Amino acid sequence: MKAALVGVDPEPSGKTPPALLYEARRPTGRERGPDAVVETILGFAAELRDIGAARFGTPAEAAGVAVPGIVDETSGTAVYAANLGWRNVPLRALLSERLGGVPVSLGHDVRTGGLAEGRIGAGRDAGRFLFVPLGTGIAGAIGIGGRIEAGAHGSAGEIGHIVVRPGGRACGCGQRGCLETLASAAAVGRDWAAACGDPEASAADAAKAVASGDARARAVWRDAVDALADGLVTGLTLLDPELLIIGGGLAEAGDTLFTPLREAVRRRVTFQRLPSIVPAALGDAAGCLGAGLLAWDLLSTEVTA
Ligand SMILES: [Zn+2]
Repeated sequence: MKAALVGVDPEPSGKTPPALLYEARRPTGRERGPDAVVETILGFAAELRDIGAARFGTPAEAAGVAVPGIVDETSGTAVYAANLGWRNVPLRALLSERLGGVPVSLGHDVRTGGLAEGRIGAGRDAGRFLFVPLGTGIAGAIGIGGRIEAGAHGSAGEIGHIVVRPGGRACGCGQRGCLETLASAAAVGRDWAAACGDPEASAADAAKAVASGDARARAVWRDAVDALADGLVTGLTLLDPELLIIGGGLAEAGDTLFTPLREAVRRRVTFQRLPSIVPAALGDAAGCLGAGLLAWDLLSTEVTA
């Protein structure tokens, strides 16, 4: 888990708030079960509150938290997360109680990262964008006019579960041939490990081997890029975005990814307008900054309400 105290940048840089004033990380404790994870989140937030009070003379006035899985942002409930094991945790209410009644906003991790990319990152000038981080899995955030579309049930943007290879590999979601089974950083790492015979090999190793001209790595990479282009073209056909923002571990390959990806997407579009395809700007701080923006928005709403 990553956490931060967020506030107005104390340097008069003229930059849009928020700035990260203090950052911390800790393990989720998920091996001890879902209740332990919830307790870790609550304790971590309370600790940050105390640190803020000690350092800045006043505790945080609002809190934002972003969690994976399915999130109902309206009721503030963490509905489901396969990797954390929880179901229907009223996280917003629990957190507000632990923090002395301050307003709390609960968001979905990728949508919250997308919110930050849209406001202060790669999408800051784009009215419509699709943010797709390629990590352990693949998710997406649909940015429209300064906000992120959550969907009717809190699961909009799940581009990783678009089937791009019908009947293909089994996916954790129960379907086969989903995009994330082919083009996530985890999938590319697995494929490269199988191809090169080193079980420890990762997607970053695959990218290095591609850059050095290894033919087996190039084949693995081409398959992933083709699958990714198929999924992204489905997304852009539905959404007509100005911008595709690609983040996560696989995007760290830079031009090794972006050059063939732009070409693969360009080859597939016919009537659609080709969006710019750009790397995410905020890296792994996106979620933290986005959670800060969620909290920030609660305060600005309260001021104007
Ligand atoms: Zn799936």
